Amino acid sequence: MMKTPLLISRILQHGSTVHGDSEVATWTGEGARRTSYAEVGRQAARLAHALRGLGVTGDERVGTLMWNNAEHLIAYLAVPSMGAVLHTLNLRLFPEQLIYIANHAEDRVVIVDSTLIPLLAGVLPHLSTIRHIVVVGGGDTSKLVKDGVEVHAWDEILQGRPDTFDWPEVDEDDAAALCYTSGTTGNPKGVAYSHRSIYLHSMEVCMAESFGLGPQMRNLVIVPMFHAMAWGLPYAALMSGAQLVMPDRFLQAAPLARMIEVEKPSFAGAVPTIFTDLLAYLDANPTDVSSLQEVVIGGSACPPALMHAYAERYDIQVIHAWGMTEMSPLGSIARAPFGVDGPEAWAYRYTQGRVPAGVEARIVGPTGEAMPSDGKAVGELEVRGPWITAQYIGEDGPDPDKFDNGWLRTGDVGTLTPNGYLTLTDRAKDVIKSGGEWISSVDLENALMAHPAVLEACVVGVPDDKWGERPLATVVLKEGAAADAETLREFLLTKVARWQLPERWSFIEAVPKTSVGKFDKKRVRSDYAGGSLEVVQING
Ligand code: ADP
Repeated sequence: MMKTPLLISRILQHGSTVHGDSEVATWTGEGARRTSYAEVGRQAARLAHALRGLGVTGDERVGTLMWNNAEHLIAYLAVPSMGAVLHTLNLRLFPEQLIYIANHAEDRVVIVDSTLIPLLAGVLPHLSTIRHIVVVGGGDTSKLVKDGVEVHAWDEILQGRPDTFDWPEVDEDDAAALCYTSGTTGNPKGVAYSHRSIYLHSMEVCMAESFGLGPQMRNLVIVPMFHAMAWGLPYAALMSGAQLVMPDRFLQAAPLARMIEVEKPSFAGAVPTIFTDLLAYLDANPTDVSSLQEVVIGGSACPPALMHAYAERYDIQVIHAWGMTEMSPLGSIARAPFGVDGPEAWAYRYTQGRVPAGVEARIVGPTGEAMPSDGKAVGELEVRGPWITAQYIGEDGPDPDKFDNGWLRTGDVGTLTPNGYLTLTDRAKDVIKSGGEWISSVDLENALMAHPAVLEACVVGVPDDKWGERPLATVVLKEGAAADAETLREFLLTKVARWQLPERWSFIEAVPKTSVGKFDKKRVRSDYAGGSLEVVQING
């Protein structure tokens, strides 16, 4: 067989010619601005020429501080295709972390949306490797001042450049993109994706068992392009011809609902909290969302109640998926096996799903011993495969805390069935250790979020004199709804064992979220420890 390197430039060339008519729509707040994949290809060539003009050579890093929009897509394609490395900067990190990752990756250029200039200006004095800033969209750049750093306008540096580029034949194992984990503990850790890993992962994303992308689909990419490469959707779209609807900075429920009504996506991907908010909005503000057929929800456990609500009230099927930045990120997708449908299918769809070919998974016990895939044995999940990182960047070798002889230790705890269904009960660090038993915080959360008065529930383990640790339930009630701790405890009794019922309850305005929209359990624990939560104690 021919040895053809698996390169991003091939995805770009394919998408911009074979699927040249496919569209990227970027939401502007009022409507959408539109461009075609053919034009994206031409713009990518212009950007590559412009970046070469700024001196970007070899595997130099080009950072992006951007929302999901057409220009970000162009950077996604141009930067790796020219042999440089794309570094997606998470705009929701704390400034110190943003500074840390930009310096750690040694970003030479940062492409920034003009709406994010204030954010960049705030950290710029501490960015030690940056030489050029490229600003997308007009705006006041007077705050972007630093010795040795030049500021350019996107339109100006692309103008007049050739609309083709002689894409270099780099090694498929070379780095194409960098993404840092959101660093819930310690500094973020960097993962370098290769051209090959992105290519193979994109093919998997397109497969029917996964997201099933194809030219007939219109994808609303809500998951940020700075969060685990937007789950591979941008590259998979160019590969498959699926169209893209990009929300830019309009990520609240009201504009998302309007976007769905007007742009009629058939598919979307986001973390659970976005769809929880959207559901509350749709229930209160009827909107035509009938174009939407499937939404992939992952990033944290998707409450079954949310899946049912969308299926029953809006005829939208939620597909649960699991993954990690370290895994490019797709790790598993929950579709019922062939021939199983109707009510029986739900038991499969609640799980985190099955790993695709290319990902191997196993469960190991506390001393690293392999445990049976019998759907019962609980242990830490380990994975390996061609789109899973073998180590973090800048480290001398695989860190034994995170890698186990060629396997990635996910830090997730759960079970595997003989036919490959993965059920995660918790992150190892969030499991509640009560006496000799483990309580799954996720089970309690899912059970609570099935109560009609509950919008969100976040459960964490807190110190307890008698049991070591006990669950604390923090609950956000739906607008206008009422329920007290006793009522919710009674409700939980129908779903979990009595000994697991939380004694400590706190009703809060909103669950604190991490930079990628997950429940920030570390913050909830420290709020409790610091005494800033009002807690009701019920001894059952
Ligand atoms: P970060 O580690 O920065 O939060 P990631 O998105 O890489 O960012 O997080 C990966 C982790 O998110 C997984 O290890 C797992 O704990 C959690 N996760 C992702 N998807 C799911 C899911 N469907 N169910 C439960 N947990 C999930």
